Amino acid sequence: MIPDWEAERRRMVEEQLRNRGIRDERVLSAMNGIPREGFVPLEARLAAYFDEPIPIGCRQTVSQPYMTALMAQSLELGGTETVLEVGAGSGYHAAVLGTLAACVISVEIIPALAELARRNLARAGLDRNVTVVCGDGSRGHPDLAPYDAISVAAAAPKIPAALLDQLNDPGRLVIPVGERGEHELRVVWKRRGRIEHRVATLCRFVPLRLPRS
Ligand code: SAH
Repeated sequence: MIPDWEAERRRMVEEQLRNRGIRDERVLSAMNGIPREGFVPLEARLAAYFDEPIPIGCRQTVSQPYMTALMAQSLELGGTETVLEVGAGSGYHAAVLGTLAACVISVEIIPALAELARRNLARAGLDRNVTVVCGDGSRGHPDLAPYDAISVAAAAPKIPAALLDQLNDPGRLVIPVGERGEHELRVVWKRRGRIEHRVATLCRFVPLRLPRS
């Protein structure tokens, strides 16, 4: 029997997002509209709306829906922004950001996943304003900088300087920070030349690959 994806999606939005404090109606509506089952591997499809991360190949995972929502909400997008995502993975988070902003560039370091993200976004018809670039996103993507918002989907011991440089003023950045194990999800504002931080929650992410120095 084919699951009722729309009903599963609605339930995810109410139980996992709204009930846990996601308040941005644009985020709730974006996640209510995007077919997450089209972004996870076939064999994991029945788990597409479960409250957990899902393996997508190459030892990477797509985050649990709540984490995607929290990260997107913390960027306070209004619809006019240019957004940089680091770590396209399945393309799901990029699809959410593309629904909330004017334009998204998502940089993915693993070629097979960059291709997967492009395919998933195109199949869902959500590639109009989302471009997936294969490369090292810890260096940002200078060609289109500055970015009004930056969303990093992998954890680093500290915030890569290139990303802070490429953040617009005013601008917002969300990134998991820490060593292996537990990370802090940090929300960073750049305002009138100053940088401020807040910790949104504790979390666990795959590591951001960094260039050897
Ligand atoms: N946002 C994704 C989740 C991806 S998991 C989704 O919705 O599915 C984190 C991703 O970051 C992985 O695909 C990993 O390959 C990628 N990554 C890790 N280090 C990177 C780097 N330096 N530059 C770009 N992508 C990187």
